Amino acid sequence: KVSRLYESEAQVPNGSPENWNQSYLNIAILVHVKLQSAFDLLSELKKIEQIMGRNLQKEKWSPRCIDLDILYIEGVQFDTEQLTVPHKELFRRPFAYLPLRDVLPRLEMNEPTWYKKYLISGHSEFNTHVSENHFLPIIVGVINVTSDSFSDGNKYLNKENLLSTT
Ligand code: ATP
Ligand code: CA
Ligand code: CA
Repeated sequence: KVSRLYESEAQVPNGSPENWNQSYLNIAILVHVKLQSAFDLLSELKKIEQIMGRNLQKEKWSPRCIDLDILYIEGVQFDTEQLTVPHKELFRRPFAYLPLRDVLPRLEMNEPTWYKKYLISGHSEFNTHVSENHFLPIIVGVINVTSDSFSDGNKYLNKENLLSTT
């Protein structure tokens, strides 16, 4: 399951470069994984971050293209140096808690104090809200309407023919 997409204000230290002040986009996804432990899941997530181009050398708090955290695992709770589950900031971060509630509405944990106020007013810290500017497509598909494929060229490769088929 995939949550709605939430937007929130960036949290940056005083005196940071102006271009660090970009809003964050957050979603939660609910997955079933066939792995031995939560530590294996963390190492898989780190591999994905790397493939997607996350640069760990960059300064903490600077804009990054991706950050994959484990928010919650059903029936699991522990705190180690390497990994804390549920995520240690889950209740203090509406941009983590709200998407998690989308995919797990009956979360078996006490609600954070701000949550009731959010349900009434729609306001929460860091101005976290369902994004109006960005959304996830429900279905994406490509229909190949020609007798030839787009990718391997030949029949429709030359410009004249391309124009006549659009
Ligand atoms: P934050 O913890 O404030 O969200 P971050 O995600 O920006 O910080 P990272 O540099 O991505 O920080 O992660 C630092 C380390 O946090 C990871 O290398 C990992 O070992 C550890 N960690 C502890 N608990 C979790 C968790 N639940 N999910 C992901 N990483 C975790
Ligand atoms: Ca994080
Ligand atoms: Ca992280």
